[in-house]
Amino acid sequence: MKIPFNNPYLTGKEIHYMNQAVRQGHLSGNGYFTKKCQHYLEERYGFRKCLLTTSGTDALEMCAMLCNLQSGDEVIMPSYTFVSTALAFLREGARVVFADSMKCNPNIDADAIEALVTPRTRVIVPVHYAGVACDMDAIMAIAERHNLIVVEDAAQAIDSYFISRKSNVESQKPLGGIGHLAAFSFHETKNVTAGGEGGLLVVNDERFVRRAEILWEKGTNRAEFFRGEVNKYGWVDMGSSFLPAELNAAFLWAQLECLDTIQLRRKHIWNRYYELLKPHAAKGYFSLPHIPEYATNNAHMFYLILPDLEKRTALIQHLKDNDILAVFHYLSLHSSSYYAKKHDGRLLPECDRYADTLARLPMYNDLKIKEVEYICSRIVQFYE
Ligand SMILES: *Cc1c(COP(=O)(O)O)cnc(C)c1O
Repeated sequence: MKIPFNNPYLTGKEIHYMNQAVRQGHLSGNGYFTKKCQHYLEERYGFRKCLLTTSGTDALEMCAMLCNLQSGDEVIMPSYTFVSTALAFLREGARVVFADSMKCNPNIDADAIEALVTPRTRVIVPVHYAGVACDMDAIMAIAERHNLIVVEDAAQAIDSYFISRKSNVESQKPLGGIGHLAAFSFHETKNVTAGGEGGLLVVNDERFVRRAEILWEKGTNRAEFFRGEVNKYGWVDMGSSFLPAELNAAFLWAQLECLDTIQLRRKHIWNRYYELLKPHAAKGYFSLPHIPEYATNNAHMFYLILPDLEKRTALIQHLKDNDILAVFHYLSLHSSSYYAKKHDGRLLPECDRYADTLARLPMYNDLKIKEVEYICSRIVQFYE
């Protein structure tokens, strides 16, 4: 019995819809399935405008382009994130200012953001790690005070919510629907996939809608032409080829259609891990994911925080010896070989701690509860 870290889930309808896309004879982007997916996500989450992209990285690049940055403008983001979050803004000439994570979970520490704001700051990029919300009331308030754009890196955050208590009124807001712009990923390691690679740009602020469509269509106003708003289309702005082929959108549709069952199953697995490991966390062996009262859990990931790097290395090896693939995650971007010399030298101890001590356990739809129990028993065996 070998247990992989991830195993892409298939609903069974993927080939059916891909076959339909082929028979419809429209294979390039922005066809029937692209529109179907975009419309579904706009309706389900109340997103102002959705545009499918070829990856989450591409969606982040579109966000960065839409921010219209000048060289030297500053963008605040956590150091504990995937490289794409930083790359998207760096390639627009921005300076990335890394913030530390919270003590309770790897998300950006909202209380540390305001001290980093300078007259050059333009954007804050909260990353909802493991699909668990950052403190968006606090972040949106800082952005409002300093007139900043908020881009949510919601790559891992499909179908997860922030519970806002703004002005003492409680309301649930879908992640990706709070900032001015947001990016989701449909990579095969995420909760739903567009057939391996895929992403989504969400535009919540009306000001960015028109330009987003133009960037998406290689710098042309083609979308307006097809809606009959202009009588010819041409080159009007920057842009690139960000739209996925219909085959990928058809694959994604098969998954979106089953989103509720996918989420139920993942939460079931996540809860079983939590239940079985909780008594051992109480003994101080490790700590479990912390979900603040303002966040929901979309069961994107199950991780442990080990006491130190040596313990983590040993546990991952022990699990590997038992045919279980557990993996660590991000390395601190502020001390990466590419960015260390550009970083301003501030220490980010919480980020470094997660880089050294976080271990992710196998998490995928077809993971059996018996396997979860086996994995937990091997973890306990490591300690006892
Ligand atoms: C997966 C991920 C991305 C990148 O998404 P791709 O679709 O792989 O390009 C960006 N940010 C975070 C936080 C991610 O988890």
